[in-house]
Amino acid sequence: MKLSVVIPLYNESAVVKLLLAKVHQNLVDIGEAFEMVCVDDGSNDDTLDQLLEIKAAHQELKVISLSRNFGLQAAIVAGLEHAHGEYVVVMDGDLQDPPELIATLFQKIQKSKGDVVSAVRNDRGEKRAKRFYIRVFHKIFKSVSEEKQLEQAGNFCILSRRAVTAILKFTEQNRYFPGIRNFIGFQHDLVFYDRPNRTEGISKMSNKKLFALAADAIYSFSKWPIKLCLYLGLSGVVVFLLAIVYTLVSKFTGLAPFGWSSTFLAISFFGSVQLTFLGVIGEYIYRIYKEVQNRPVYLIKEVYE
Ligand code: UDP
Ligand code: MG
Repeated sequence: MKLSVVIPLYNESAVVKLLLAKVHQNLVDIGEAFEMVCVDDGSNDDTLDQLLEIKAAHQELKVISLSRNFGLQAAIVAGLEHAHGEYVVVMDGDLQDPPELIATLFQKIQKSKGDVVSAVRNDRGEKRAKRFYIRVFHKIFKSVSEEKQLEQAGNFCILSRRAVTAILKFTEQNRYFPGIRNFIGFQHDLVFYDRPNRTEGISKMSNKKLFALAADAIYSFSKWPIKLCLYLGLSGVVVFLLAIVYTLVSKFTGLAPFGWSSTFLAISFFGSVQLTFLGVIGEYIYRIYKEVQNRPVYLIKEVYE
């Protein structure tokens, strides 16, 4: 098996037929032995039925049905674990990652003899607000991450077997695939493309899911939240020292007695600093707890080989 294509799908009944027809055609054109690994992430529409229908006509399709919706990141892990190709493509199942680019990715990785080629978006045909906060996230993430991160790269990429093996060694609960893909090192090349808007169906990554993903990325690839605590704490100490000077000066210059405002300000300042600390530390403890529980990242209902 030369090439596997992993596609996570959650309620994509509007697009799945067209998607697989396109992916299939592009893979046939490449002319190597291939498989398509579709992970049905607990859809509650007829995505799975449609997949099985397509499977009846295309033996190259493998369908993994998860027991419920585990989220995009877990679905990618499930797909990678079931892909057997020498090279593995990961792509979204809504045609925003154009199937025509698979050939480009495949040629690039063969020519460069590298281990990862990521597709980077020049432009996104997406709503202005979403484009804006995704850009803000990428900027922040790039500057706070301990590893070098790519801007404007999503899941779309091709991986060598060596890279897939490396990525599957990560056992953390909250996986952020683009972050891990940068973490592993190896030769990593880029291909640029214009990302079209979603034409069928609606986005399955709700704002809530996107913000949770951003938090996962930042908490697992950066010390920044805990550092922020430290800096806030230190600035609190500076304010406290200034307040002492102010108090003493006012006392000895006869400006005192001063009223409740200074006391009140000090209390609210330190109160809020402490609450921020507790929030961030709580988040770390929650994450440690999750890791210790070591639950499976996804559960399979059925594999249709
Ligand atoms: N997806 C998934 N599980 C989820 C949410 C999304 O498998 O819980 C899939 C979805 O079907 C699509 C891909 O992940 O194939 C990207 O999702 P979407 O296009 O909704 O995200 P966006 O492009 O809006 O960020
Ligand atoms: Mg999309």
